[in-house]
Amino acid sequence: MDIRQADREYIIGTYRRQEPVLVRGRGARCWDQEGKEYLDFGAGIGVNSLGFCDPEWADAVAAQARTLQHASNLYYTLPGVELAKTLCLRTGYRKALFCNSGAEANECAIKLARKYSFDKYGPDSGRNKILCLGNSFHGRTVTTLSATGQDVFHNYYFPFTEGFAFAPANDLDAALALLEQGGFCGVLVELIQGEGGVNPLEPHYVSALSGYCREHDLLLLADEVQTGIGRTGQLLASRWFQDALGAPLLPDITTLAKGLGGGLPIGAVLTNERTCNVMGPSDHGTTFGGNPVACAGALTVMSRLSDAFLEEVRRKGEILRHALGNIPEIAGISGLGLMLGLSLRTQKAPEVVKECIRLGLLPLTAKEKVRLLPPLSITDEELSRGADILRQALT
Ligand SMILES: *Cc1c(COP(=O)(O)O)cnc(C)c1O
Repeated sequence: MDIRQADREYIIGTYRRQEPVLVRGRGARCWDQEGKEYLDFGAGIGVNSLGFCDPEWADAVAAQARTLQHASNLYYTLPGVELAKTLCLRTGYRKALFCNSGAEANECAIKLARKYSFDKYGPDSGRNKILCLGNSFHGRTVTTLSATGQDVFHNYYFPFTEGFAFAPANDLDAALALLEQGGFCGVLVELIQGEGGVNPLEPHYVSALSGYCREHDLLLLADEVQTGIGRTGQLLASRWFQDALGAPLLPDITTLAKGLGGGLPIGAVLTNERTCNVMGPSDHGTTFGGNPVACAGALTVMSRLSDAFLEEVRRKGEILRHALGNIPEIAGISGLGLMLGLSLRTQKAPEVVKECIRLGLLPLTAKEKVRLLPPLSITDEELSRGADILRQALT
């Protein structure tokens, strides 16, 4: 079978796929159907935290698949409880809710913020709007598209969900001016905007938003779907912000997905003391959320992400930055840990990615930047080989 042709014939073409037909992977390497090897600097868009087919992860997933693959949320099961407990103990949050994707996690966070204000201030208070940031990305459901601060996403699917306002990222005056109009129940931010171009927020800006939320009883929602689970060299990127501020900063809700399952679909909503009891029986639901196989995979990811492992991610991030440091075509490098964005002087990111793929490297783009999200388990040698390929593609 010609896989590319069959794909175009039978799968709706919402993606313009790259050329390779990938058949197999191991660690940070994978192979296409012709046997050509690629080095992975994308991790399936930040999903394969432990690389392709990590043996411990695969064993845990297979063992769970042979024991109890799904039971629904009507019954108690162990893997989800273990995962929720681990996430809470490691992050300081109180309770978790599981779903299947980043969009669903954000959708739930939005519902939770609205219900928090609804319960406390009543239906007539009008407190239901959420402040979002320009250039953000929060998902592809109608509501998370509505929360996404990029006009290109606000097309065709009218009517979009009401109740979102947008301020440019890092512009505190603009955010406060909107918030002062009233009617808000929350503020939704990516601490480092991923799809929007790997743009970190400024710690003092986030801290000021957090302070405003506290004072006015709004919820601060952090979309860590991309930045969470070790991607930036901390379990949560909010830790970087805490360290920079020298003060606690734990948003009222943090959403996770991409890297959490190590390659299986799972999302999570982490809630604190203020937000953990906003939803009760029948207030929300999902058939697949907290699926035992996905949770078993996530538990392996969590068990591997020790403090020492996270320190390694930070070190590897520095190694990669350094290895890319003297390529004249690169105008700047943004991001933290193993989440990096390369601004280019003259070349176009999609062309660079195509050339890298030809040379055996799989990077990503984010807006006009080349985006690098290698598996967190990648070796120094693989990082420097990948950097060499990038250098070649950019020269
Ligand atoms: C990828 C992403 C999403 C959407 O996640 P899906 O699993 O594709 O629904 C939401 N927010 C951020 C920050 C993301 O990077």
